[in-house]
Amino acid sequence: VSQENQSILSASEWVTKLYHHLLRYTKDGKEGYQYLKDRGITDETIDIFQMGFAPNVKDFTAEFLQKKGFHQQILVKAGLLSLNEDNSITDRFRGRVVFPIRNHLGKTIAFGGRTISDQEPKYLNSPESDLFQKGKILYNFDLSKRYIRKQSEAVLFEGYMDVITAYQAGVKNAVATLGTSLTEAQARLLRRYVDTVIICYDADEAGTEAAYKAAVLLQKAGSHVKIANMQDDRDPDDFIREFGAEAFQDQVIKSSLPFTSFYMKYLKKDYNLSLEGDRIQYIEKLLEYLATIESPVEREYYLKEIGDSYNVSMDSLKQEILTNREKMG
Ligand code: ATP
Ligand code: MN
Ligand code: MN
Ligand code: MN
Repeated sequence: VSQENQSILSASEWVTKLYHHLLRYTKDGKEGYQYLKDRGITDETIDIFQMGFAPNVKDFTAEFLQKKGFHQQILVKAGLLSLNEDNSITDRFRGRVVFPIRNHLGKTIAFGGRTISDQEPKYLNSPESDLFQKGKILYNFDLSKRYIRKQSEAVLFEGYMDVITAYQAGVKNAVATLGTSLTEAQARLLRRYVDTVIICYDADEAGTEAAYKAAVLLQKAGSHVKIANMQDDRDPDDFIREFGAEAFQDQVIKSSLPFTSFYMKYLKKDYNLSLEGDRIQYIEKLLEYLATIESPVEREYYLKEIGDSYNVSMDSLKQEILTNREKMG
């Protein structure tokens, strides 16, 4: 690690402690604390994730760190301060609840901040650097990896708050991407630790689309994929707050669907299934996918579902699968 990076890591550690202390024990952080309380986060969880609050004061962080001997230039590089056009500086995360982003060894390398008012953007991350590359890090991987190993499953979420609420609800094998879609590097990282990944994204259109893309990448990396049973446009954090930990574990995580079931539903968006022509195209598209499944039992299971739903004979379905498989070579 270069000296500059060493310095950034050290500043990040100070800031983590500062924001966390302010949030937990002082008037300056009370708004942030209240915000998390209103979202059902316990003190214990706040401490585990070292969440904090950056006061809504232009130079609070700058003052603190400069007293500790850090140069302004390093703090700008670390993304803790933003340089304004007139060369003055502002605390980047001011007025936000702050989530330290730890690398896989547990060192804070960046931050995410969520506004507690209506500031835009809702979430703000540290800028990318050679220390922090969002596409290579999974949020909470350092804490979750022993649970991931133990349970032989990882649960992948969209956001920090989902991971944190899930963890509090007993789903501790939880990781998230950092506001971007899953990357190949992240898929490979997961694959090194575990066979099965449960994707638990928001149940809205964007979340479903992202879940499909993540599933394809994970499968390419050699993982077995399941899709959590999230419904009704909620996200995992909303679900847990509304229905509780047990319901989340039983009805969402343990009730995850195999990727194929998810795909059969997902694919319907491209067709108008009340039209006969579309129905046939939909079935043919599905059969292309089913032909790639190696297990004959699994294939037969889904063929039967299609046969029953669309009143097609098993013979013709099997015939088409055979043709598809021959084409695949
Ligand atoms: P909350 O529950 O606090 O409103 P969320 O996690 O449900 O937040 P989503 O809008 O579902 O937020 O977005 C999922 C994730 O995408 C967030 O956790 C964050 O990492 C990232 N994200 C969302 N909005 C932004 C944004 N405006 N800028 C950068 N990243 C964002
Ligand atoms: Mn969303
Ligand atoms: Mn969400
Ligand atoms: Mn949410």
